[in-house]
Amino acid sequence: MANKDYTIRQLLEMEACTNCRICADVCPAVTAAGEGKISAVNRMKGIKEIVKSRGGLLSKLLGRKVSPEAMAQFSRDTFRCTLCGNCQEVCPVGIQLKDLWLSLRQDLVHSDAYPKEINMIRDNLAASHNVFAEDNDERADWVEDMSEPPDHGFLKEKAEVVYFTGCVAAYFPLAQKIPMALADIMASTDVDFTLMGEEEWCCGFPLLGAGLKDLFHTFRDHNLAAVRAKGAREVVFACPSCYQMWREHYPQGDLKFTHASQFLLRMLRRGDIPMKPLDMTVTYHDPCDLGRAARVFDEPREAIGLIPGVRLVELPRNRENCLCCGGGGNLEMLSKELSADIARLKIEEILSTGAQAVVTACQQCVRTMTTHVRRNKVALEVLDLTQLIQRALDKEEA
Ligand code: SF4
Ligand code: SF4
Repeated sequence: MANKDYTIRQLLEMEACTNCRICADVCPAVTAAGEGKISAVNRMKGIKEIVKSRGGLLSKLLGRKVSPEAMAQFSRDTFRCTLCGNCQEVCPVGIQLKDLWLSLRQDLVHSDAYPKEINMIRDNLAASHNVFAEDNDERADWVEDMSEPPDHGFLKEKAEVVYFTGCVAAYFPLAQKIPMALADIMASTDVDFTLMGEEEWCCGFPLLGAGLKDLFHTFRDHNLAAVRAKGAREVVFACPSCYQMWREHYPQGDLKFTHASQFLLRMLRRGDIPMKPLDMTVTYHDPCDLGRAARVFDEPREAIGLIPGVRLVELPRNRENCLCCGGGGNLEMLSKELSADIARLKIEEILSTGAQAVVTACQQCVRTMTTHVRRNKVALEVLDLTQLIQRALDKEEA
């Protein structure tokens, strides 16, 4: 056990917390569970206690020790968090709370005080290179379910653009409509793109969230080499977590990393996607990893605004204050119930707008919200931006 998982900045930030509790007010986990003990401010106190308990002679003299039982409880509470970053967004002192939660998770793994469910992430990725322990050579099998799958299956030797699908979209039937939509739009408008098929491995994001950052480099090195082998100049992601991972943890060099919302907006602005009108009122949910983390707020809204006939109404909590859908931080694996309770809050807020559909730009958000809507028979359509644009795509003009 040591404090080496924290940077000097983080050790100083722990002392900067003023106990104002603003972070607790915006936390989706606290609101859904009704438990203040899982708030950022309380977690901050817990970290400080752990760090100080390892503080050498002084802590020995003062007898400061954290009992194994208290540590186990603290660890479970630490992982009851979606890593949505809303606490960081509002902290008046500017503490980088999300990074701190990642360091804390890593510390708990190194201290062997982590929830053992997360071993599954490590084991699945080691065995199959995807987070669901599926055959990785089936990563692009969704192409066969498209209405007109091409003979080459979107697997080319070389292409200008690589579409990095991510594990959720590749394997989850609920989310597979997203890569189908994006591939359909790109193919209909002659974008020179390829998938990577089995050469695509998990981006490594679940490892970071699990506190297993040490294992991430193999995945990064493999994916980068596979993209370069395609001769691509741009990598497109419909998954904000993959996008964030590549932006923050992969060396970019001369490659361009683009989220699908930005890619599609570029095409819409150029008039490359012929559109037919849709008569719809929608609201937009900002995915945490795209909005708060990557500050991509305007592009999806502008893209929606360019679809003729579509009216956008904003959620009460939007942009940097958007309420998480409950699907982040590996929460579903550790506390399915809490994840579902957060999704319920999200759907209630969406229904308050009167919109007939919620549009987002994330496969995990689509999966979480669709699961809630279907299970509870809620009359609401959940769509990814790619699906909305595909619906408006005028193929006769393409
Ligand atoms: S990251 Fe989100 S869920 Fe986690 S403590 Fe902060 S506000 Fe709460
Ligand atoms: S908002 Fe920042 S300063 Fe206030 S209690 Fe939370 S972590 Fe501490």
